Amino acid sequence: MPEHAVKILLIEDNSAEARLLREVLGTTEPMQFSIVHVQHLREGLKQLAAESFDIILLDLTLPDSAGLESLSTLVPCAPTVPIVVLTNTNDEQLALEALRQGAQDYLVKRLVNMERLGRSLHYAIERKQISLALLKANEELAETNARLKEEIREREKVQAELERSNQELEQFAYIASHDLKQPLSSISSWAQMLAMRSRGNLDEKADQCINYILDGTGRMQQLIEDLLTYSRAGRMTESFEATSCEQLVKEAMASLENAISQSEARITCDRLPTVMADPVQLEQLFQNLLDNALKYCQHRTPQIHISAMLQPAPSSDSKSQAKNGDRSADGPDESEWVFSVMDNGIGINREHFDRIFMIFQRLHRRDEYPGTGIGLATCQKIVEYHGGRIWVESEVGCGSTFYFTLPAQRSESNSEKQ
Ligand code: ADP
Repeated sequence: MPEHAVKILLIEDNSAEARLLREVLGTTEPMQFSIVHVQHLREGLKQLAAESFDIILLDLTLPDSAGLESLSTLVPCAPTVPIVVLTNTNDEQLALEALRQGAQDYLVKRLVNMERLGRSLHYAIERKQISLALLKANEELAETNARLKEEIREREKVQAELERSNQELEQFAYIASHDLKQPLSSISSWAQMLAMRSRGNLDEKADQCINYILDGTGRMQQLIEDLLTYSRAGRMTESFEATSCEQLVKEAMASLENAISQSEARITCDRLPTVMADPVQLEQLFQNLLDNALKYCQHRTPQIHISAMLQPAPSSDSKSQAKNGDRSADGPDESEWVFSVMDNGIGINREHFDRIFMIFQRLHRRDEYPGTGIGLATCQKIVEYHGGRIWVESEVGCGSTFYFTLPAQRSESNSEKQ
């Protein structure tokens, strides 16, 4: 309710009834009313244009307008002001129609007493304020909704654009590395030939230059190989099949046979499940992780342990939280296998846990540990392509454990679930 006296616009052609009303409203303590009285609808409209009112009391029989017509003229001109119809006609149907057309109340003059009138005005003002507030809230909601929809559309557009440019980039990386391979291998062969033929015939400086060329081409070949593997990883393939992870680990170890025997590494492995996967890519994943575990061990004898554990998968909302090993997921969706590859190597500082999965990000100089900085980025691509997540837990000097997940509903052999 307004704190000041309630300002009423009374539209009533009968002066005697207007006077009576003034008197009645003058005695409705503690409410205070101030009344502006007009006898014609057009005068009422003029008043509304000139000043603001808290409420309108409207008689339905006016010299210049009759019945509900007055209401339908008035409502659009004063959409925020509550209107109470005060009339001699006791007609239920008319009353209902008046309310439908926007009146807050319909009072019959001879049936209304002082108390009822005061209360009706009071309630009419409250109701109008509430319905206006609701209307405003609704409008705001609709605006927010439209804005959100627009934002979603924008994001989807950006996402589609990003995916397209990523695909182009990958395509480019693939073609570029593929096409670079041939000329590079030719440079390398000729440089080797030159080295064989001229060794001892040229001065020491020239031999050194040839060695630099051989070293450079070797590095570039490795880089191109790794880039090709990276751009192939996660490519759409139809070849998801039941894949024994135990078998894949064996094959990955066979590929790393030299490094394993030279370092006298001890590799142990728990029972691993069979999953639905692209076996070529999954072997690449195990091979990259094992390769790193063998490489980043400084002078210690590498001790590596591989295991897998079945556990409830976090709900899709909390997958991003769970990425960094935060397992406080708020509700299991399905099951997933969590694989781990644990080593006793040099470890990784916590601040680099995310960075090492980005392409070309290395924590060491090449003369300390050889590498191209593509291996873990490839691992991440492979894992995500299979619907999983990858992360690391480590402490400098105390070894590292790389974890990755694979959805277990793709698992073929339930008997292997632990
Ligand atoms: P690369 O081994 O060719 O440098 P990766 O992408 O495989 O590239 O690894 C990125 C970086 O992460 C490595 O340079 C190394 O610093 C760090 N890293 C990877 N695996 C391990 C590990 N098992 N122990 C310690 N550091 C590691």
